[in-house]
Amino acid sequence: MGYEVLARKWRPQVFTDVVGQDHVIRTLHNAIETDRLAHAYLFVGPRGTGKTTTARILAKALNCQNRNGSEPCNECDSCKEIVSGSSLDVIEIDGASNRGIADVQELRDNVRYAPVRGPFKIYIIDEVHMLTREAFNAILKTLEEPPPHVKFFFATTEPQKVLTTILSRCQRFDLRRISVADITAQLQKIAAAEGITISDDALLAIARGAEGGLRDAESALDQLISFRGKQIEEADVLSVFGLISREQLEGLAGSILDGNIPGIIAATDQIDQSGKDMQRVVLELLDHFRNLLIVLHAGENSTAFDLPETQVEILKIQAAKSSDGRLLRIVDLLIDADSRMRYALSKRTLLEASLIRASRAATVATIDELMKQVSALAASQGVSPIISASDKKNDEIIGLTPQAVQEAPAEYSVKKKPSDDLNRLKTAWPKLIGQICKGVPQAKAYLMDTAPLRVSETHVTIGLDPEFAAEKASLENQRVLLFIQKKLTDFLKRPVSVEFDVLARKAEPKPKSMDPATQELDKKEYYNNPAVRNVLEAFSGDIETVRK
Ligand SMILES: [Zn+2]
Repeated sequence: MGYEVLARKWRPQVFTDVVGQDHVIRTLHNAIETDRLAHAYLFVGPRGTGKTTTARILAKALNCQNRNGSEPCNECDSCKEIVSGSSLDVIEIDGASNRGIADVQELRDNVRYAPVRGPFKIYIIDEVHMLTREAFNAILKTLEEPPPHVKFFFATTEPQKVLTTILSRCQRFDLRRISVADITAQLQKIAAAEGITISDDALLAIARGAEGGLRDAESALDQLISFRGKQIEEADVLSVFGLISREQLEGLAGSILDGNIPGIIAATDQIDQSGKDMQRVVLELLDHFRNLLIVLHAGENSTAFDLPETQVEILKIQAAKSSDGRLLRIVDLLIDADSRMRYALSKRTLLEASLIRASRAATVATIDELMKQVSALAASQGVSPIISASDKKNDEIIGLTPQAVQEAPAEYSVKKKPSDDLNRLKTAWPKLIGQICKGVPQAKAYLMDTAPLRVSETHVTIGLDPEFAAEKASLENQRVLLFIQKKLTDFLKRPVSVEFDVLARKAEPKPKSMDPATQELDKKEYYNNPAVRNVLEAFSGDIETVRK
Protein backbone atom coordinates (compact mmCIF):
# COMPACT_ATOMS: atom_id res chain seq x y z
CA MET A 1 0.00 0.00 0.00
CA GLY A 2 1.31 3.42 -0.93
CA TYR A 3 1.77 6.51 1.16
CA GLU A 4 -1.24 7.53 3.17
CA VAL A 5 -1.55 10.89 4.91
CA LEU A 6 -1.54 10.67 8.70
CA ALA A 7 -4.98 12.20 9.16
CA ARG A 8 -6.42 9.45 6.98
CA LYS A 9 -4.25 6.66 8.28
CA TRP A 10 -5.10 7.55 11.88
CA ARG A 11 -8.76 8.34 11.33
CA PRO A 12 -10.68 6.61 14.14
CA GLN A 13 -12.53 3.51 12.95
CA VAL A 14 -14.37 2.84 16.22
CA PHE A 15 -16.14 5.14 18.69
CA THR A 16 -13.58 4.61 21.46
CA ASP A 17 -10.82 6.03 19.23
CA VAL A 18 -12.60 9.35 18.67
CA VAL A 19 -10.57 11.97 20.55
CA GLY A 20 -12.05 14.59 22.86
CA GLN A 21 -15.79 14.08 22.16
CA ASP A 22 -16.80 11.80 25.02
CA HIS A 23 -20.18 13.48 25.50
CA VAL A 24 -21.21 12.69 21.91
CA ILE A 25 -19.80 9.18 21.86
CA ARG A 26 -21.50 8.22 25.12
CA THR A 27 -24.91 9.33 23.82
CA LEU A 28 -24.49 7.49 20.52
CA HIS A 29 -23.31 4.38 22.31
CA ASN A 30 -26.44 4.39 24.48
CA ALA A 31 -28.70 5.07 21.51
CA ILE A 32 -27.31 2.04 19.63
CA GLU A 33 -27.38 -0.25 22.69
CA THR A 34 -30.98 0.62 23.48
CA ASP A 35 -32.00 0.79 19.81
CA ARG A 36 -33.34 4.31 20.13
CA LEU A 37 -32.07 5.88 16.94
CA ALA A 38 -33.30 9.07 15.35
CA HIS A 39 -33.95 9.43 11.62
CA ALA A 40 -31.61 12.36 11.29
CA TYR A 41 -28.54 13.53 13.16
CA LEU A 42 -26.76 16.84 12.87
CA PHE A 43 -23.11 17.00 13.87
CA VAL A 44 -22.03 20.56 14.58
CA GLY A 45 -18.50 21.71 15.31
CA PRO A 46 -15.33 23.46 14.12
CA ARG A 47 -13.34 21.91 11.30
CA GLY A 48 -11.31 18.81 12.02
CA THR A 49 -13.04 17.90 15.27
CA GLY A 50 -14.48 14.58 14.07
CA LYS A 51 -17.94 15.33 12.64
CA THR A 52 -17.84 13.16 9.51
CA THR A 53 -15.59 10.63 11.22
CA THR A 54 -18.23 10.12 13.90
CA ALA A 55 -20.98 9.98 11.26
CA ARG A 56 -19.07 7.28 9.35
CA ILE A 57 -18.50 5.17 12.46
CA LEU A 58 -22.19 5.48 13.27
CA ALA A 59 -23.07 4.42 9.71
CA LYS A 60 -20.79 1.41 9.99
CA ALA A 61 -22.21 0.46 13.37
CA LEU A 62 -25.80 0.58 12.08
CA ASN A 63 -25.09 -1.58 9.05
CA CYS A 64 -22.43 -3.86 10.56
CA GLN A 65 -23.17 -7.56 10.16
CA ASN A 66 -21.18 -8.49 13.21
CA ARG A 67 -21.50 -5.57 15.60
CA ASN A 68 -19.49 -5.73 18.79
CA GLY A 69 -21.64 -3.97 21.40
CA SER A 70 -22.07 -0.51 19.91
CA GLU A 71 -18.85 -0.70 17.89
CA PRO A 72 -18.60 -1.71 14.23
CA CYS A 73 -16.43 -4.78 13.58
CA ASN A 74 -14.55 -3.17 10.65
CA GLU A 75 -14.16 -6.64 9.16
CA CYS A 76 -17.50 -7.57 7.65
CA ASP A 77 -18.28 -6.75 4.01
CA SER A 78 -20.50 -3.83 4.96
CA CYS A 79 -17.83 -2.23 7.18
CA LYS A 80 -15.12 -2.77 4.56
CA GLU A 81 -17.23 -1.23 1.80
CA ILE A 82 -18.00 1.81 3.91
CA VAL A 83 -14.32 2.28 4.79
CA SER A 84 -13.30 2.03 1.13
CA GLY A 85 -16.12 4.31 0.02
CA SER A 86 -17.70 1.71 -2.26
CA SER A 87 -20.83 1.02 -0.22
CA LEU A 88 -24.10 1.37 -2.11
CA ASP A 89 -25.99 1.86 1.14
CA VAL A 90 -23.93 4.67 2.62
CA ILE A 91 -23.89 7.66 0.31
CA GLU A 92 -21.66 10.62 1.11
CA ILE A 93 -22.53 13.98 -0.37
CA ASP A 94 -20.35 17.06 0.01
CA GLY A 95 -22.69 19.98 0.38
CA ALA A 96 -19.94 22.34 -0.72
CA SER A 97 -19.53 20.81 -4.18
CA ASN A 98 -22.90 19.17 -4.80
CA ARG A 99 -25.08 22.13 -4.22
CA GLY A 100 -27.51 21.73 -7.08
CA ILE A 101 -31.05 20.54 -7.12
CA ALA A 102 -30.12 17.75 -9.56
CA ASP A 103 -28.18 15.73 -6.98
CA VAL A 104 -30.87 16.17 -4.42
CA GLN A 105 -33.50 15.18 -6.98
CA GLU A 106 -31.52 12.02 -7.56
CA LEU A 107 -31.32 11.52 -3.81
CA ARG A 108 -35.08 11.82 -3.51
CA ASP A 109 -35.60 9.26 -6.24
CA ASN A 110 -33.10 6.81 -4.74
CA VAL A 111 -34.43 7.10 -1.22
CA ARG A 112 -37.40 4.96 -2.19
CA TYR A 113 -35.27 1.91 -2.98
CA ALA A 114 -34.39 -0.46 -0.18
CA PRO A 115 -30.75 -0.77 0.94
CA VAL A 116 -28.66 -3.37 -0.88
CA ARG A 117 -26.85 -5.03 1.97
CA GLY A 118 -27.44 -3.54 5.39
CA PRO A 119 -30.65 -2.63 7.16
CA PHE A 120 -30.26 1.09 6.44
CA LYS A 121 -29.68 3.43 3.56
CA ILE A 122 -27.63 6.24 5.08
CA TYR A 123 -26.96 9.67 3.59
CA ILE A 124 -23.99 11.53 5.05
CA ILE A 125 -24.15 15.16 3.91
CA ASP A 126 -21.09 17.18 4.86
CA GLU A 127 -21.19 21.01 5.00
CA VAL A 128 -24.94 20.76 4.76
CA HIS A 129 -25.30 24.54 5.23
CA MET A 130 -23.84 25.01 1.73
CA LEU A 131 -26.80 23.40 -0.01
CA THR A 132 -29.11 25.69 -1.94
CA ARG A 133 -32.52 26.54 -0.58
CA GLU A 134 -34.12 24.33 -3.23
CA ALA A 135 -31.91 21.44 -2.21
CA PHE A 136 -32.82 22.01 1.43
CA ASN A 137 -36.49 21.94 0.56
CA ALA A 138 -36.10 18.73 -1.40
CA ILE A 139 -34.38 17.09 1.58
CA LEU A 140 -37.05 18.45 3.86
CA LYS A 141 -39.73 16.61 1.85
CA THR A 142 -37.91 13.34 2.58
CA LEU A 143 -37.28 14.27 6.21
CA GLU A 144 -40.96 14.95 6.79
CA GLU A 145 -41.94 11.39 5.94
CA PRO A 146 -38.74 9.38 6.11
CA PRO A 147 -38.98 5.76 4.94
CA PRO A 148 -38.00 3.54 7.92
CA HIS A 149 -34.84 2.31 6.18
CA VAL A 150 -33.40 5.81 5.63
CA LYS A 151 -31.11 7.81 7.91
CA PHE A 152 -29.59 11.23 7.39
CA PHE A 153 -26.35 12.29 9.05
CA PHE A 154 -25.63 15.96 8.47
CA ALA A 155 -22.42 17.74 9.38
CA THR A 156 -21.85 21.48 9.49
CA THR A 157 -19.51 24.11 10.81
CA GLU A 158 -22.26 26.74 10.58
CA PRO A 159 -25.54 25.50 12.07
CA GLN A 160 -27.04 28.99 11.98
CA LYS A 161 -27.16 28.70 8.19
CA VAL A 162 -29.15 25.47 8.26
CA LEU A 163 -32.92 25.93 7.82
CA THR A 164 -34.76 25.68 11.12
CA THR A 165 -37.24 23.27 9.57
CA ILE A 166 -34.30 20.89 9.03
CA LEU A 167 -32.75 21.61 12.44
CA SER A 168 -35.99 20.80 14.21
CA ARG A 169 -36.09 17.35 12.63
CA CYS A 170 -32.55 16.41 13.66
CA GLN A 171 -30.98 15.22 16.84
CA ARG A 172 -28.09 17.59 17.27
CA PHE A 173 -24.59 16.90 18.58
CA ASP A 174 -22.15 19.70 19.25
CA LEU A 175 -18.56 18.60 18.90
CA ARG A 176 -16.01 20.57 20.85
CA ARG A 177 -12.67 21.99 19.92
CA ILE A 178 -10.21 19.38 21.03
CA SER A 179 -8.08 20.35 24.01
CA VAL A 180 -4.36 21.03 23.65
CA ALA A 181 -3.70 18.16 26.05
CA ASP A 182 -5.79 15.73 23.97
CA ILE A 183 -4.16 16.84 20.73
CA THR A 184 -0.62 16.54 22.09
CA ALA A 185 -1.41 13.09 23.50
CA GLN A 186 -2.75 11.91 20.13
CA LEU A 187 0.22 13.36 18.23
CA GLN A 188 2.59 11.69 20.65
CA LYS A 189 0.90 8.36 19.99
CA ILE A 190 1.17 8.85 16.23
CA ALA A 191 4.80 10.02 16.41
CA ALA A 192 5.79 7.01 18.51
CA ALA A 193 4.09 4.61 16.09
CA GLU A 194 5.64 6.31 13.05
CA GLY A 195 9.13 6.41 14.57
CA ILE A 196 9.28 10.21 14.72
CA THR A 197 11.26 12.02 17.43
CA ILE A 198 9.48 15.20 18.36
CA SER A 199 10.10 17.49 21.35
CA ASP A 200 7.36 18.37 23.84
CA ASP A 201 7.57 22.04 22.88
CA ALA A 202 7.15 21.12 19.22
CA LEU A 203 4.05 19.03 20.02
CA LEU A 204 2.64 21.87 22.04
CA ALA A 205 3.31 24.32 19.20
CA ILE A 206 1.46 22.09 16.73
CA ALA A 207 -1.49 21.85 19.11
CA ARG A 208 -1.50 25.64 19.55
CA GLY A 209 -1.38 26.14 15.80
CA ALA A 210 -4.20 23.69 15.13
CA GLU A 211 -6.64 25.62 17.35
CA GLY A 212 -8.60 22.60 18.52
CA GLY A 213 -8.74 20.78 15.19
CA LEU A 214 -7.15 17.34 15.35
CA ARG A 215 -7.13 16.91 11.57
CA ASP A 216 -5.19 20.16 11.14
CA ALA A 217 -2.72 19.01 13.79
CA GLU A 218 -2.20 15.70 12.01
CA SER A 219 -1.79 17.42 8.64
CA ALA A 220 0.78 19.74 10.19
CA LEU A 221 2.70 16.76 11.53
CA ASP A 222 2.65 15.28 8.01
CA GLN A 223 3.98 18.49 6.55
CA LEU A 224 6.70 18.67 9.20
CA ILE A 225 7.79 15.10 8.52
CA SER A 226 8.25 15.85 4.83
CA PHE A 227 10.02 19.10 5.75
CA ARG A 228 12.30 17.88 8.55
CA GLY A 229 12.34 14.08 8.45
CA LYS A 230 12.22 12.03 11.63
CA GLN A 231 13.49 14.69 14.04
CA ILE A 232 11.21 17.64 14.75
CA GLU A 233 11.90 20.63 17.00
CA GLU A 234 9.78 23.57 18.13
CA ALA A 235 11.51 25.99 15.74
CA ASP A 236 10.41 23.86 12.76
CA VAL A 237 6.81 24.04 13.86
CA LEU A 238 6.95 27.76 14.50
CA SER A 239 8.21 28.49 11.02
CA VAL A 240 5.50 26.35 9.44
CA PHE A 241 2.68 27.98 11.42
CA GLY A 242 4.07 31.52 11.66
CA LEU A 243 3.81 31.30 15.45
CA ILE A 244 6.09 32.85 18.03
CA SER A 245 7.80 30.47 20.44
CA ARG A 246 6.40 29.65 23.82
CA GLU A 247 9.49 31.22 25.34
CA GLN A 248 8.92 34.43 23.37
CA LEU A 249 5.27 34.41 24.35
CA GLU A 250 6.04 33.93 28.03
CA GLY A 251 8.75 36.56 27.83
CA LEU A 252 6.37 39.04 26.29
CA ALA A 253 3.72 38.33 28.93
CA GLY A 254 6.43 38.80 31.56
CA SER A 255 7.39 42.19 30.10
CA ILE A 256 3.75 43.26 30.20
CA LEU A 257 3.39 42.20 33.83
CA ASP A 258 6.65 43.89 34.84
CA GLY A 259 5.89 47.11 32.97
CA ASN A 260 9.06 46.54 30.94
CA ILE A 261 8.28 48.80 27.99
CA PRO A 262 11.72 48.55 26.28
CA GLY A 263 11.24 44.76 26.45
CA ILE A 264 7.82 45.08 24.79
CA ILE A 265 9.17 47.30 22.01
CA ALA A 266 12.08 44.93 21.35
CA ALA A 267 9.76 41.92 21.26
CA THR A 268 7.32 43.64 18.89
CA ASP A 269 10.21 44.51 16.62
CA GLN A 270 11.40 40.91 16.60
CA ILE A 271 7.90 39.66 15.81
CA ASP A 272 7.63 42.15 12.97
CA GLN A 273 11.08 41.37 11.57
CA SER A 274 10.40 37.64 11.51
CA GLY A 275 7.10 38.19 9.71
CA LYS A 276 4.91 36.55 12.35
CA ASP A 277 1.16 36.99 12.28
CA MET A 278 0.40 39.86 14.70
CA GLN A 279 -3.24 38.99 15.16
CA ARG A 280 -2.16 35.52 16.10
CA VAL A 281 0.22 36.97 18.69
CA VAL A 282 -2.66 38.89 20.28
CA LEU A 283 -4.82 35.76 20.41
CA GLU A 284 -2.04 33.74 21.93
CA LEU A 285 -1.40 36.42 24.55
CA LEU A 286 -5.11 36.43 25.33
CA ASP A 287 -4.94 32.71 25.89
CA HIS A 288 -1.92 33.14 28.13
CA PHE A 289 -3.57 35.78 30.32
CA ARG A 290 -6.73 33.72 30.50
CA ASN A 291 -4.58 30.85 31.78
CA LEU A 292 -3.05 33.18 34.38
CA LEU A 293 -6.54 34.06 35.59
CA ILE A 294 -7.38 30.38 35.88
CA VAL A 295 -4.21 29.64 37.84
CA LEU A 296 -5.06 32.54 40.12
CA HIS A 297 -8.63 31.45 40.80
CA ALA A 298 -9.12 27.80 40.09
CA GLY A 299 -5.59 26.63 40.80
CA GLU A 300 -3.28 24.66 38.57
CA ASN A 301 -5.38 21.50 38.59
CA SER A 302 -8.54 23.08 37.20
CA THR A 303 -10.36 21.22 34.45
CA ALA A 304 -10.78 24.57 32.69
CA PHE A 305 -7.08 24.34 32.28
CA ASP A 306 -6.07 22.92 28.96
CA LEU A 307 -2.32 22.64 29.33
CA PRO A 308 0.47 20.16 29.75
CA GLU A 309 2.43 20.38 33.00
CA THR A 310 5.54 21.87 31.41
CA GLN A 311 3.86 25.25 31.11
CA VAL A 312 2.21 25.41 34.50
CA GLU A 313 5.31 26.40 36.50
CA ILE A 314 5.79 29.62 34.55
CA LEU A 315 2.11 30.43 34.79
CA LYS A 316 2.27 30.05 38.56
CA ILE A 317 5.23 32.40 38.81
CA GLN A 318 3.59 35.01 36.58
CA ALA A 319 0.21 34.71 38.30
CA ALA A 320 1.87 35.32 41.66
CA LYS A 321 3.11 38.68 40.35
CA SER A 322 -0.33 39.92 39.47
CA SER A 323 -3.91 40.19 40.67
CA ASP A 324 -7.21 39.42 39.01
CA GLY A 325 -8.08 43.10 38.72
CA ARG A 326 -4.95 43.72 36.69
CA LEU A 327 -5.27 40.57 34.61
CA LEU A 328 -8.86 41.38 33.70
CA ARG A 329 -7.84 44.83 32.54
CA ILE A 330 -5.11 43.31 30.37
CA VAL A 331 -7.56 40.78 28.91
CA ASP A 332 -9.98 43.62 28.08
CA LEU A 333 -7.24 45.55 26.30
CA LEU A 334 -6.17 42.50 24.31
CA ILE A 335 -9.76 41.76 23.25
CA ASP A 336 -9.98 45.34 22.08
CA ALA A 337 -6.69 45.01 20.17
CA ASP A 338 -7.90 41.80 18.55
CA SER A 339 -11.09 43.38 17.25
CA ARG A 340 -9.23 46.40 15.85
CA MET A 341 -6.36 44.41 14.35
CA ARG A 342 -8.29 43.36 11.24
CA TYR A 343 -8.78 46.94 10.12
CA ALA A 344 -5.54 48.42 11.38
CA LEU A 345 -3.36 50.16 8.79
CA SER A 346 -0.26 49.38 10.79
CA LYS A 347 -0.69 46.18 12.75
CA ARG A 348 2.71 46.70 14.30
CA THR A 349 1.82 50.10 15.74
CA LEU A 350 -1.45 48.78 17.07
CA LEU A 351 0.26 45.80 18.66
CA GLU A 352 2.93 47.97 20.22
CA ALA A 353 0.47 50.53 21.59
CA SER A 354 -1.88 47.84 22.91
CA LEU A 355 0.87 45.98 24.70
CA ILE A 356 2.25 49.15 26.27
CA ARG A 357 -1.25 50.03 27.42
CA ALA A 358 -1.61 46.51 28.82
CA SER A 359 1.67 46.85 30.67
CA ARG A 360 0.43 50.07 32.25
CA ALA A 361 -2.75 48.30 33.30
CA ALA A 362 -0.51 45.62 34.77
CA THR A 363 1.45 48.01 36.92
CA VAL A 364 -1.20 50.45 38.08
CA ALA A 365 -2.00 49.68 41.68
CA THR A 366 -5.45 48.62 42.71
CA ILE A 367 -7.05 49.94 45.88
CA ASP A 368 -6.51 46.56 47.54
CA GLU A 369 -2.80 46.79 47.07
CA LEU A 370 -2.69 50.37 48.34
CA MET A 371 -4.51 49.30 51.45
CA LYS A 372 -1.83 46.73 52.11
CA GLN A 373 0.92 49.28 51.57
CA VAL A 374 -0.77 51.69 53.93
CA SER A 375 -1.14 49.06 56.62
CA ALA A 376 2.53 48.27 56.28
CA LEU A 377 3.41 51.95 56.51
CA ALA A 378 1.29 52.45 59.60
CA ALA A 379 2.77 49.33 61.18
CA SER A 380 6.26 50.66 60.60
CA GLN A 381 5.28 53.74 62.61
CA GLY A 382 4.20 51.64 65.55
CA VAL A 383 0.46 51.57 64.96
CA SER A 384 -1.66 49.06 63.13
CA PRO A 385 -5.02 50.50 62.22
CA ILE A 386 -7.21 48.53 59.85
CA ILE A 387 -8.41 50.96 57.26
CA SER A 388 -11.97 50.60 56.10
CA ALA A 389 -12.64 51.33 52.47
CA SER A 390 -16.23 50.27 52.43
CA ASP A 391 -17.22 52.88 49.86
CA LYS A 392 -14.71 51.80 47.25
CA LYS A 393 -14.71 48.98 44.80
CA ASN A 394 -11.93 46.47 45.26
CA ASP A 395 -10.20 46.84 41.97
CA GLU A 396 -10.73 50.52 41.48
CA ILE A 397 -7.93 52.11 39.52
CA ILE A 398 -6.42 55.03 41.28
CA GLY A 399 -3.61 55.80 38.93
CA LEU A 400 -0.59 55.19 41.10
CA THR A 401 2.18 52.81 40.23
CA PRO A 402 3.42 50.45 42.93
CA GLN A 403 6.68 52.39 42.90
CA ALA A 404 4.82 55.59 43.66
CA VAL A 405 3.11 53.85 46.53
CA GLN A 406 6.36 52.76 47.97
CA GLU A 407 7.57 56.32 47.90
CA ALA A 408 4.43 57.45 49.64
CA PRO A 409 5.86 57.83 53.18
CA ALA A 410 8.21 60.62 52.06
CA GLU A 411 5.44 62.33 50.15
CA TYR A 412 3.10 62.28 53.10
CA SER A 413 5.51 64.11 55.31
CA VAL A 414 6.03 67.02 52.92
CA LYS A 415 2.67 67.37 51.26
CA LYS A 416 0.50 70.43 51.44
CA LYS A 417 -2.59 70.30 53.56
CA PRO A 418 -5.44 68.88 51.50
CA SER A 419 -7.60 71.79 52.66
CA ASP A 420 -5.34 74.16 50.65
CA ASP A 421 -6.04 72.10 47.57
CA LEU A 422 -9.74 72.13 48.36
CA ASN A 423 -9.80 75.93 48.56
CA ARG A 424 -7.84 76.27 45.35
CA LEU A 425 -10.13 73.81 43.66
CA LYS A 426 -13.28 75.56 44.91
CA THR A 427 -12.03 78.88 43.48
CA ALA A 428 -11.10 77.39 40.16
CA TRP A 429 -14.16 75.10 39.87
CA PRO A 430 -16.35 77.26 37.60
CA LYS A 431 -13.44 77.67 35.19
CA LEU A 432 -12.70 73.92 35.32
CA ILE A 433 -16.34 73.13 34.60
CA GLY A 434 -16.02 75.27 31.49
CA GLN A 435 -12.98 73.29 30.33
CA ILE A 436 -14.56 69.94 31.12
CA CYS A 437 -17.72 70.82 29.23
CA LYS A 438 -15.71 71.67 26.14
CA GLY A 439 -14.51 68.06 26.09
CA VAL A 440 -17.75 66.39 27.12
CA PRO A 441 -20.63 68.77 26.39
CA GLN A 442 -23.21 66.34 27.74
CA ALA A 443 -21.76 66.83 31.25
CA LYS A 444 -22.69 70.50 31.35
CA ALA A 445 -26.22 70.05 32.61
CA TYR A 446 -25.09 68.05 35.61
CA LEU A 447 -21.84 69.76 36.52
CA MET A 448 -23.46 73.17 36.92
CA ASP A 449 -24.88 72.11 40.28
CA THR A 450 -21.77 70.57 41.77
CA ALA A 451 -19.05 71.73 44.13
CA PRO A 452 -15.79 70.15 45.33
CA LEU A 453 -16.29 68.62 48.77
CA ARG A 454 -13.10 66.89 49.76
CA VAL A 455 -9.60 66.57 48.37
CA SER A 456 -7.17 63.92 49.53
CA GLU A 457 -3.86 62.75 48.13
CA THR A 458 -5.58 60.40 45.74
CA HIS A 459 -9.26 61.32 45.67
CA VAL A 460 -11.44 64.28 44.89
CA THR A 461 -15.02 64.11 46.05
CA ILE A 462 -17.49 66.27 44.21
CA GLY A 463 -20.76 67.13 45.93
CA LEU A 464 -23.97 66.83 43.98
CA ASP A 465 -27.07 68.84 44.77
CA PRO A 466 -29.64 66.38 46.20
CA GLU A 467 -32.09 67.60 43.60
CA PHE A 468 -29.87 66.12 40.91
CA ALA A 469 -29.15 62.86 42.72
CA ALA A 470 -30.54 61.01 39.73
CA GLU A 471 -27.72 62.40 37.57
CA LYS A 472 -25.05 60.64 39.60
CA ALA A 473 -25.14 57.72 37.19
CA SER A 474 -24.67 60.00 34.18
CA LEU A 475 -21.63 61.57 35.79
CA GLU A 476 -20.19 58.20 36.56
CA ASN A 477 -20.41 57.32 32.90
CA GLN A 478 -16.87 56.13 32.15
CA ARG A 479 -16.00 58.72 29.50
CA VAL A 480 -17.23 61.68 31.48
CA LEU A 481 -15.57 60.45 34.65
CA LEU A 482 -12.24 59.88 32.93
CA PHE A 483 -12.34 63.34 31.42
CA ILE A 484 -13.06 65.00 34.75
CA GLN A 485 -10.35 62.89 36.33
CA LYS A 486 -7.84 64.04 33.75
CA LYS A 487 -8.67 67.72 34.25
CA LEU A 488 -8.36 67.39 38.02
CA THR A 489 -5.12 65.46 37.71
CA ASP A 490 -3.73 68.28 35.57
CA PHE A 491 -4.97 70.88 38.03
CA LEU A 492 -3.65 69.20 41.19
CA LYS A 493 -0.51 67.94 39.41
CA ARG A 494 -0.95 64.43 40.78
CA PRO A 495 -3.09 61.46 39.78
CA VAL A 496 -6.46 61.54 41.48
CA SER A 497 -9.68 59.65 41.03
CA VAL A 498 -13.01 61.32 41.26
CA GLU A 499 -16.13 60.26 43.07
CA PHE A 500 -19.50 61.88 43.46
CA ASP A 501 -21.46 62.26 46.62
CA VAL A 502 -25.04 63.42 46.85
CA LEU A 503 -24.94 66.23 49.41
CA ALA A 504 -27.89 65.21 51.55
CA ARG A 505 -26.42 61.82 52.23
CA LYS A 506 -22.96 63.10 52.96
CA ALA A 507 -21.65 62.78 56.51
CA GLU A 508 -18.18 63.42 57.86
CA PRO A 509 -16.38 60.20 58.75
CA LYS A 510 -16.74 59.48 62.42
CA PRO A 511 -15.09 56.80 64.51
CA LYS A 512 -17.39 53.82 64.73
CA SER A 513 -18.70 53.35 68.26
CA MET A 514 -18.76 49.59 68.20
CA ASP A 515 -15.92 49.19 70.65
CA PRO A 516 -15.61 49.58 74.41
CA ALA A 517 -14.61 52.93 75.92
CA THR A 518 -10.94 52.06 76.22
CA GLN A 519 -10.81 51.30 72.51
CA GLU A 520 -12.36 54.68 71.83
CA LEU A 521 -9.66 56.37 73.85
CA ASP A 522 -7.00 54.48 71.93
CA LYS A 523 -8.59 55.52 68.69
CA LYS A 524 -8.66 59.19 69.70
CA GLU A 525 -5.00 58.95 70.45
CA TYR A 526 -4.33 57.53 66.99
CA TYR A 527 -6.50 60.10 65.30
CA ASN A 528 -4.15 62.69 66.75
CA ASN A 529 -1.13 60.94 65.31
CA PRO A 530 -0.29 62.90 62.13
CA ALA A 531 0.88 59.84 60.20
CA VAL A 532 -2.37 58.02 60.85
CA ARG A 533 -4.43 61.10 60.02
CA ASN A 534 -2.69 61.54 56.70
CA VAL A 535 -3.36 57.96 55.80
CA LEU A 536 -7.01 58.21 56.79
CA GLU A 537 -7.43 61.39 54.79
CA ALA A 538 -5.69 59.92 51.79
CA PHE A 539 -8.23 57.12 51.57
CA SER A 540 -11.25 58.71 53.21
CA GLY A 541 -10.85 55.79 55.59
CA ASP A 542 -11.57 55.19 59.22
CA ILE A 543 -9.99 53.31 62.11
CA GLU A 544 -11.95 50.18 62.84
CA THR A 545 -9.89 48.54 65.52
CA VAL A 546 -6.61 49.18 67.25
CA ARG A 547 -4.43 46.17 67.80
CA LYS A 548 -1.54 46.24 70.24
ZN1 LIG B 1 -18.85 -4.86 10.50
